[in-house]
Amino acid sequence: MHSKPSQAGVPVVLLYHRIGFPKLSSLVAGQYVAPPLFRSQMGYLTARGWTVASLDSVISDRQPASNMFAVTFDDGYLSVYEHAFPIMVERGIKATIYVVADAVGGLNDWDRKAGDQAEPMMSAAQIREMADAGFEIGSHTLTHPHLTECDDDELRREIVDSKRKLEDIIGRQVSSFSYPYGDCDQRVIAAAKDAGYCNAVSTKLGVVRDCGVFEIPRVNVRWNAFGPLLARKIERAKRASGL
Ligand SMILES: [Zn+2]
Repeated sequence: MHSKPSQAGVPVVLLYHRIGFPKLSSLVAGQYVAPPLFRSQMGYLTARGWTVASLDSVISDRQPASNMFAVTFDDGYLSVYEHAFPIMVERGIKATIYVVADAVGGLNDWDRKAGDQAEPMMSAAQIREMADAGFEIGSHTLTHPHLTECDDDELRREIVDSKRKLEDIIGRQVSSFSYPYGDCDQRVIAAAKDAGYCNAVSTKLGVVRDCGVFEIPRVNVRWNAFGPLLARKIERAKRASGL
């Protein structure tokens, strides 16, 4: 027996990495979302009744009356500041940017070690400018390791020191965390809680319903996700969360 479909909305967290035209020479070409596509994705969802909200609101309101989405970016690439930041300011979107603290003003060394090409990262001044504009800055560790493979000391350093380092840059508390590669287990989650974070996001596909606040699933948005494909991916995320 099916009950009447619920009128509750769906809360989702979108995950972006790089903004720009896909570089086919990159190992992760699918991670580039072209600026016009990013703009049209934001417009597509809002034109269909979705409300854009901060990560905090999406996490705290897990049974919203209407569909809502938060925007997050992992790593802290310069291309996010250059291309997505102006679009979001124009549309009043306040995203969360998870920054690799040791890479500020440098390059994506973890991608390069895996054989990918160099990409510049945001500078401290750019990160501060986004924080001052109301964007949330979260931590994505110091060096982007696989946290489940770190020993306890490394784990603490990556999680605690990155928080302090980013707090020094923005002059505010850093309370959100993102696990590199979505790699986490109970030990990693406990370390993030101990460090004083309030929430953490993974890369698992899903919507924000019936999940722990230290295992928030997201919808990874890729280079080809024009409106209908993005909508289909959100449908998949709903099914993954049992909706
Ligand atoms: Zn990452």
